[in-house]
Amino acid sequence: YELTHQDTRRVLYDVVTLLEAQAALHDTQIVVDAGKEPLWIFGVENQIKQVFINILKNAIEAMVDGGKISVHCRLEGESVIVQIADQGPGISQEQLSKMGQPFYTTKDKGTGLGLMVTYKIIDNHNGTVTAHSEMGEGAIFTILLPYSAPPS
Ligand code: ADP
Ligand code: MG
Repeated sequence: YELTHQDTRRVLYDVVTLLEAQAALHDTQIVVDAGKEPLWIFGVENQIKQVFINILKNAIEAMVDGGKISVHCRLEGESVIVQIADQGPGISQEQLSKMGQPFYTTKDKGTGLGLMVTYKIIDNHNGTVTAHSEMGEGAIFTILLPYSAPPS
């Protein structure tokens, strides 16, 4: 559990590369817009990767007819913000309120643990995750983490 400074963009690109084959199998394309400046955060790299994997996998699984997943990453004030938007069916208010509870899943072979782990990891990194969705309009997950540049 080594804490290091990481460029969020690089972590995101690594994860997207990892998931590209799975996305292609679902006729899904992941498009990343992360700007040109390093977006430094401080944390456990594998845990941050796990967060992006969990949210992107859910997005891929939600888009049964395929489509586009848009990932936006930027600096806002002292925070690095990552937004992951899909074109799936969206999430109802009732589902939104249950998401992140252990074992809450709507999938035949789901574990219902991905988002619980995601919330826990981000909380441990002093960040926040919020989910936003209108039925029929897809879902947007917003991750906020403190900006933390390496010492120069
Ligand atoms: P699992 O993927 O094993 O079901 P998760 O904790 O990752 O467990 O997700 C819990 C539930 O939240 C999912 O079963 C699904 O109902 C809902 N969910 C998560 N992400 C999305 C999404 N992008 N679109 C629609 N529903 C979602
Ligand atoms: Mg999941």
